[in-house]
Amino acid sequence: MTAAAAGPGFDSLPLSTAALANLQVLGYLSMTPIQAASLPLALAGHDLIAQAQTGSGKTAAFGLALLARLNAKNPAPQALVLCPTRELADQVTQEIRRLARAEDNIKALTLCGGVPIRSQLDSLAHGAHIVVGTPGRISDHLERGTLVLAELKTLVLDEADRMLDMGFAEDIGAIAAQCPRERQTLLFSATYPEGIAQISRKFLRNPREVKLSTQPNAAKIRQRFYEVTEDQRLNAVGLLLNHYRPERTLAFCNTKAQCRDLVAVLQAQGIAALALHGDLEQRDRDQVLIQFANRSCPVLVATDVAARGLDISDLEAVINVDISPEAELHTHRVGRTGRADAEGWAFSLASLDEMGRVGRIDEMQGRTGEFHPLAELKPTGNGPLLAPMVTLQILGGRKEKIRPGDVMGALTGSAGFAAAQIGKINVNEFSTYVAVARDIAGPALHALNAGTVKGKKVKARPIEG
Ligand code: AMP
Repeated sequence: MTAAAAGPGFDSLPLSTAALANLQVLGYLSMTPIQAASLPLALAGHDLIAQAQTGSGKTAAFGLALLARLNAKNPAPQALVLCPTRELADQVTQEIRRLARAEDNIKALTLCGGVPIRSQLDSLAHGAHIVVGTPGRISDHLERGTLVLAELKTLVLDEADRMLDMGFAEDIGAIAAQCPRERQTLLFSATYPEGIAQISRKFLRNPREVKLSTQPNAAKIRQRFYEVTEDQRLNAVGLLLNHYRPERTLAFCNTKAQCRDLVAVLQAQGIAALALHGDLEQRDRDQVLIQFANRSCPVLVATDVAARGLDISDLEAVINVDISPEAELHTHRVGRTGRADAEGWAFSLASLDEMGRVGRIDEMQGRTGEFHPLAELKPTGNGPLLAPMVTLQILGGRKEKIRPGDVMGALTGSAGFAAAQIGKINVNEFSTYVAVARDIAGPALHALNAGTVKGKKVKARPIEG
């Protein structure tokens, strides 16, 4: 994925001639929006909270900033980038090495779990100006004293929301505590759950916020309206899902009662839908959100209020089961799909009584809603819509010091599953949730129950939607 760059050139920035020439060689002729918004602030030394997704050019945004502060003659680590996964850490290291070609002999090193710690000691002994790694392994090195951050100038938290999702909050805290107070901290995150605010209060100093417009990208959202009677409304949701087969859908209802009824109707049709509403206990709410986020629940049904804290940006579809009473709310709902590079569907079910609301929506959006007949919705694919993943719950979490890497190791080690078959891993206080591809759910469950996680026997069970 290449970031579309049509912004100002890099030559407006206080970068060295060599760095500018290197950017030319790399073909980075103009800044991407996130670079144009964050580089002037980062190069001026400010802490940053920046909203950016993969593909936006964010790596160069923090990479150029941390390189500008390096002293090549000092072999001690001066920049640390924390990433949620090894894959991302590898990509970040490669991009930083490309950007660093302009300088003499800048060394960047990746330190992630999944490889023997001993093999990393040699590389560390040779010195590295920049260290990129996952929080678990970096804190291991800090505990052993094999990595010292006394001369650190820049700390970067990349994909901070994903690191929190993966249960790395404590590790991040422990690492930040070992960095000098006089440092620059740059936090990049695609979404802003509450945990991000907490982290930034704790570890950032007077941060500047860089938020690009989250205006829904109308060109990427395909909106369709369907006229329904009240009798048809809930069934029509199943028809839409089985026809378009979106992997992940957020269905909005105007009332809690409607949410409950819809979930019952969908479940009766074999579609594993879950409801998110204020009456859920925290533990159940967490489980619902985890299943939706890790793609093991295809449909989440919610009221506007319940969906407010939901920070999932890549939804294939939004369904307005009821037309929202306010046109602005409609735009807000619909804007949850079609983010980043993806296209999204927005379906709206409208009864004759709701046509006045549809008219106000048309007015606000400056175009007439495209109505399609319900009769065109024919099931496609085989059987009811299923999520691609299944969630397995391991009874044991942070209290048992389980980390995402331990679960990944248990499944990809002697159990022999491929990393690509394993999805998101969430470690909570007492439970760990791992998403696995549907076709390996049985064998993966067996492997977890038969084997060990972190050297201990564990109990695992599937969570049924
Ligand atoms: P990232 O979001 O950091 O993963 O970057 C996405 C891709 O965009 C990477 O392949 C970068 O090499 C590329 N890229 C970053 N900045 C620019 C730029 N200003 N012009 C062209 N390509 C860029």
